[in-house]
Amino acid sequence: MKTVTLIIPCYNEAEVLPLLYKEVNRVTDGCPNYDFTLLFVNDGSADATPDIIKSLAMRDDKVKFISFSRNFGKEAAMLAGMRHADSDYIGIIDADLQHSPDLIPEMLKAVDVEGYDVAAACRSDRAGESKLKSVLSGQFYNIINKISDTKINDNAQDFRIMKRKVVDAIISMPETIRFSKGIFSWVGFNVKWYPHENRERAAGETKWSIRKLAKYAIDGILGFTASPLRIPLYLGFISIFAAVLLFIFGIVEWAVSFFSSYIMLLAAVLFVGGLILCSIGILGEYLARVYTETKQRPVYIISETNVAAHSCEE
Ligand code: UDP
Ligand code: MG
Repeated sequence: MKTVTLIIPCYNEAEVLPLLYKEVNRVTDGCPNYDFTLLFVNDGSADATPDIIKSLAMRDDKVKFISFSRNFGKEAAMLAGMRHADSDYIGIIDADLQHSPDLIPEMLKAVDVEGYDVAAACRSDRAGESKLKSVLSGQFYNIINKISDTKINDNAQDFRIMKRKVVDAIISMPETIRFSKGIFSWVGFNVKWYPHENRERAAGETKWSIRKLAKYAIDGILGFTASPLRIPLYLGFISIFAAVLLFIFGIVEWAVSFFSSYIMLLAAVLFVGGLILCSIGILGEYLARVYTETKQRPVYIISETNVAAHSCEE
């Protein structure tokens, strides 16, 4: 019988976990040809999430769990899940039931029968999301797709089922600052997309703030393209060109009074100063990443688990 692990990252999801467990069980009971494992990754929850997961594991053999020593973020939770899954197919699904478990049988069919390597959900609308978030995220994907060689589907979700070889490729990527949407797309493979309506959370609330989203966007851009490093070069050329024009203009223009040329000079100094500071800022962002990656800290620390690590990446 083929084995399937469903990775469920959970951060303060106590309110929704019993419902999720019931819904996932209903769906897995309808797929008797597969042997399922539910791998809950408790990402340092401060509520009753770890207790609920452990009590589920005590009465249900197919429930496995990994508990982090603190909150490391969903990226780390997904990675830990993938490193600990040793099944033929590996799925990722949010705990809040925004990803409908009813899609799982179809997705399994795509990878098991139809020959796809990945079956992944993509958002068919942005209902229930704030206008600001939709506009900002639309712009973010526009920019990243223009400047990076890795094309990222704006609507792709983490909800997916992958073959073992795809997961092996993903966990072989050693970076510690992880941007899964980029990584999923970078590894390639044959993907079948499932348009999926945006659903309200079954309970609890989103863990994303504007600050977290901005950090995520910056991680995405800096992790998948070095193009911003070229901006200072272009700005430098423009600035030199403008300086030459001004110089010519200054020689010709005898009539300009001392005061206005003083203001012009100040503006020019400020402008060039701003360009230099921005350029150093961009260099700094990349340098910060080199610094973080060279430290080679683990992406997460496990405090408790009932499942052995499958890959030796840890
Ligand atoms: N999550 C996590 N660690 C975090 C934040 C979120 O494991 O630091 C989990 C969360 O429990 C949920 C999934 O990631 O299962 C998606 O989070 P959320 O629903 O808050 O994001 P949204 O759906 O609003 O994008
Ligand atoms: Mg959600």
